[in-house]
Amino acid sequence: MRVRFAPSPTGYLHVGGYRTALYNYLLARKYGGKMILRIEDTDRTRLVDDAIENLIQALSWCGLEYDEGVYIDCEDNISQKGQYGPYIQSQRLDIYKKYAQKLVEQKDAYYCFCSKERLDNLRQEQAENKETPKYDKKCLHLTQKEISEKLEAGEEYVIRLNLPADTVIEFDDEVFGHISFNTNDIDDQVLIKSDGYPTYHFAVVIDDYLMKITHVIRGEEWISSTPKHIYLYKVLGLEAPKFVHLPTVLNTNRKKLSKRNDDAAVEDFKAKGYLPQALTNFVALLGWSSNEQDEIMSMDKLIENFDLSRISKSGAIFDVEKLNWMNASYIKEYDNYSLAKICMPFLKTPCSIEKLSLIIDAVKDKMVLLSDINNLSEPIFFKEKLSDESISLLLSEKSVIVLNQLKESIENADDLNSQAFQTIIRSIQTKCGIKGKDLYMPIRLAVTGEEHGADLAKIMAAIGSEELLRRIDEHIN
Ligand code: GLU
Repeated sequence: MRVRFAPSPTGYLHVGGYRTALYNYLLARKYGGKMILRIEDTDRTRLVDDAIENLIQALSWCGLEYDEGVYIDCEDNISQKGQYGPYIQSQRLDIYKKYAQKLVEQKDAYYCFCSKERLDNLRQEQAENKETPKYDKKCLHLTQKEISEKLEAGEEYVIRLNLPADTVIEFDDEVFGHISFNTNDIDDQVLIKSDGYPTYHFAVVIDDYLMKITHVIRGEEWISSTPKHIYLYKVLGLEAPKFVHLPTVLNTNRKKLSKRNDDAAVEDFKAKGYLPQALTNFVALLGWSSNEQDEIMSMDKLIENFDLSRISKSGAIFDVEKLNWMNASYIKEYDNYSLAKICMPFLKTPCSIEKLSLIIDAVKDKMVLLSDINNLSEPIFFKEKLSDESISLLLSEKSVIVLNQLKESIENADDLNSQAFQTIIRSIQTKCGIKGKDLYMPIRLAVTGEEHGADLAKIMAAIGSEELLRRIDEHIN
């Protein structure tokens, strides 16, 4: 099995694209195959700076390690690995030209010199007559002499596929089943554009063949292009690969998930504080389901469970609530120190990794995103100002007793962890006979400025004795 992820370098990795890459990867790993990253950059009007670098970095952040194709080397340069390269289409122009020539010689393709104006008029006429918009094969009837003269005169041309009329092209898709199209509904596809670059449709066929791809796994939107590809394989005398089309990823309004209206780039999710494991697990379930109950699956488990037969045909809805739930469960699996390390870049108030570990110990259960660390750690950094109501509560007789007692206990102890704080709070209860809200509320208010929040003893450990004493003193005074 040889599979490929063949993105056009748009500047970001769409989650739908990541889903395609992931399914390619899971199948390659499951069946001991090879996965290739090929860059399809033949649309020169849509080039974006650093797009290839961004794409590779996003794939690598997701934990997806392919075997062949385009990479970034240790000096941050784009490099390529594998025996079927180059893997960047703009570096393969001679190859496409050679195959296009072969098709022209066979009369399965032809030069077309029609101007944009003529094509626009034709299209408009067809639209008015409610006909399928198609090229009318005018240039197919040029004589060899006319063609040579036009070429010599340097006239602009494209090379088109010569599709026969009224012919059925069919194939069996591994997900969508038997599919057939009539050539009457298909245009004579341009294979080589006037800038000398191939179109996607031509390059994809040549490359999938030369790179020995066995399974083409890609989005549903390419189903209607597949007959052109199948016909090209046929006239080139090549065996077509298997086709696996994946259902479109939709937003909750059942519209195609798009960067314009939704969070749709892997990079967006990274920046928001999602974990790559959670995003991967979630994306794997967009259009595929495991036969096991447990939806939380590591990459290894996904490889083990993944199966083409459980890919669904109907659109896959991107439900952020579910992604959030998954992210929270992956966050809970981390130990405090490791989570602190990955939260550090999100933290807006600088502190040591040790302190952040203690904060995490107190708030981990409430975290959904890594960036939640900022809101959740606010009481620890104590930015809040107390309300009048809270101040009067702190001035009550019981509060004063509790705070004085707390101060004394902290002063008399050294090296306090959350358990020790728990013990201190309990001993105040026994000693002073104050319990429940009367006991906890003044402590929480005095040390965090808030009425509710995470586990009090853990919060106190994160704040630390010195700062606790400062805050308590402030209130006593
Ligand atoms: N370059 C195409 C894309 O960006 C790839 C389609 C395919 O996999 O054949 O979607």
